[in-house]
Amino acid sequence: MTITDNLARIKKGLPPGVELVAVSKTKPVEDILRAYNSGHLTFGENKVQEMVSKWEQLPKDIQWHMIGHLQRNKVKYLAEFVSLIHGVDSLKLLREIDKQAKKHNRVIKCLLQVHIAEEDTKFGFDPDELNELVESKELPQLPNAQIVGLMGMATFTEDQLQIRREFKALKNLFDAVNAQLPEISILSMGMSGDYEIAIEEGSTMVRIGSSIFGSRNYS
Ligand SMILES: *Cc1c(COP(=O)(O)O)cnc(C)c1O
Repeated sequence: MTITDNLARIKKGLPPGVELVAVSKTKPVEDILRAYNSGHLTFGENKVQEMVSKWEQLPKDIQWHMIGHLQRNKVKYLAEFVSLIHGVDSLKLLREIDKQAKKHNRVIKCLLQVHIAEEDTKFGFDPDELNELVESKELPQLPNAQIVGLMGMATFTEDQLQIRREFKALKNLFDAVNAQLPEISILSMGMSGDYEIAIEEGSTMVRIGSSIFGSRNYS
């Protein structure tokens, strides 16, 4: 199957209202161009340098999503062009995004990352921290860093029930936060291995890499 075949098949299966981020990390710009030429404009990367380099080489109407862990000192490299940052896991990072976005006269959309997996290797707010943050009204008014939703990753496991349980928990959390912040609308959850479950549990944005571009070679 080619990249464009994979993309078309996956898009056809997505219900209305669910957006697709094509995760192109580690893949060459030629692969991204194939997807782009078939009409897909939204791509996800998890390394700042790689994303900047691809942005420089590729058409400027591509929407770049930062899906990986983002260090505060690297926000400045993305601020000119990034369209959505999925992994905001601290107020300090949010403030830095606001500051850098201002310099470019932009509003950068952000998702708060929530730690839902049982594994403790993943970044993000704990559900308790998130609730506290939202209820305490501590969320500062940062006009250039706009919170538009939540993002989470399930445990990497074969246990479908566990994955479903974790996505359900994130959706419940989303609904609770949404009651406090009516402007949020995006729930980013689901990857190649679990996006169907994520959609059943309320995802509005899936991040799919290997099912589109093939498996990654990190060596
Ligand atoms: C790599 C990555 C994905 C895509 O993973 P696949 O299994 O290749 O679909 C999704 N989300 C995040 C945060 C990632 O780092």
